[in-house]
This record gives sequence, structure tokens and C-alpha cells, in this order.
Amino acid sequence: MSMVDVVANWAAVQERISRAAKRVGRSPEAIQVVAVTKGVDIESITPLLAYGIKAVGENRIQEALPKYQRVDWRDKVKWHFIGHLQTNKVRQCLEFASLIHSVDRLRLIREINRRAVNMELPQVEILLQVNISGEATKFGLTPEEVPALIEKAAQYEKVRIRGLMTIAPFEEDPEKTRPVFRKLRLLGEDLEEKGFPQFEMKYLSMGMTNDFEVAIEEGANLVRIGSAIFGQRPI
Ligand SMILES: *Cc1c(COP(=O)(O)O)cnc(C)c1O
Repeated sequence: MSMVDVVANWAAVQERISRAAKRVGRSPEAIQVVAVTKGVDIESITPLLAYGIKAVGENRIQEALPKYQRVDWRDKVKWHFIGHLQTNKVRQCLEFASLIHSVDRLRLIREINRRAVNMELPQVEILLQVNISGEATKFGLTPEEVPALIEKAAQYEKVRIRGLMTIAPFEEDPEKTRPVFRKLRLLGEDLEEKGFPQFEMKYLSMGMTNDFEVAIEEGANLVRIGSAIFGQRPI
């Protein structure tokens, strides 16, 4: 049994989002929380259904799919996949995910398209994960690789690129992550200006528990928040 008061935490997060948005003249309604539920029991998530939770984020297929299949409220929220995706897990991912945040290579896009055709899905929405900081331990495209990938992806008709995602390095002082978030936003603006078929700069997925306020100040409209809602957990 968890002693974490997820409802109070959720309210506190919403309040912090609201304040961060207002600091830069943005509407808090433009920002959506993806509640990161990896390692979290179903029972800890359900109380939030009454408080406006709209999307949950999972980072492992083997955890996400059974959870999705088990819960009777699965259609009340959107399920996002935010973890590293192997090509051999794409079919399972498409069984639940309405948005995949972590696409970082053409081969994966090709496989998503192939599976989407087989499964007769109308289309699949994805984000491209960009490794802005250049940390060797992080997945993601370099910013320079993104335009060419978007061009090549246009041949895969089921796949719709709807924006960009990044994971900033952990910093004790979240202010230090600002340049990372700013670069992702500017990259998005640049891509939008260039205009690519089947590409729309709809989502900027950046910011986690430690740094979501800075991310919002820099334009994030999807923030992926786990521990601030569900507490620290072993993952
Ligand atoms: C776990 C995770 C998060 C949430 O992290 P917290 O620090 O717990 O908010 C966000 N994004 C990704 C990709 C994650 O794996």
C-alpha cells in the first residue's frame, strides 16, 4: 500500500504548472500532463480519474500492455509510450499507445508503418526524440539529423510526426536545463517554418518532475511527470 497522496500531489502539480505558465503569459490549459505511471500500481492511478487526468505514460511494453488490458477505465485516458522502443515490440506498443514520444530512427518508423497497415490502424501519431544535450547515455537524434529523417518518413503514410521530445540531463538546479529546452523549441519552430508533408509541430514534450516548470517557461505543452505525482519508486 502506498502512503502517497496522489490527489494532493496532482493538485500541487497543476498549481505549479499554472504558475509557470502565467509567468510567461501562457494559458495553463495549453499544457497537458502525461502522468508517468511506470512502476505504479493501477490502484494508485484510479483516484486521479476524477481529477482530470487525461494521459498516462509508460516506458516498458511488458509493463504497459498488461496494465492497459487489465483496467476497465483504459478508454478514459490516452496511453502514451515514452520509453525506448525496440522494433520487435512495435506491434504490442500499437495495441495501446495513441502517441509514441520516443521515435529516433527511420527503421522504427518503417516498422510502425508496416504494423499499422497490418493492424488496419488509420494512422499513428509519433514524436521524434532529440538528444539536445548530446549525452552519450541518452537515446535520440541529433538536431542535425531531424530534417532528413522527417523527409524520409513522409513515404510511410500511416505515420504522422506530431512534434518533438527531449529528456534533459538531471541538474540539481533545474534552471541549468533551460538551454536544452530552448534549443528544442527553436528546432521545432525552424522545422515548422520549413514545412514538411505529414509533419505538424503540435507537441513539444519536455519537462519531468525536476524541471517541468522551466520546460513550460520554454514552451512545453506535454510534460511527463512521475515522481511529483506518485512519489519516488524503484525504477
Ligand atoms: C520516468 C520518466 C519520466 C518521469 O520522470 P519523473 O522524474 O519521475 O517525473 C519522464 N519521461 C521519461 C521518458 C521517463 O522515463
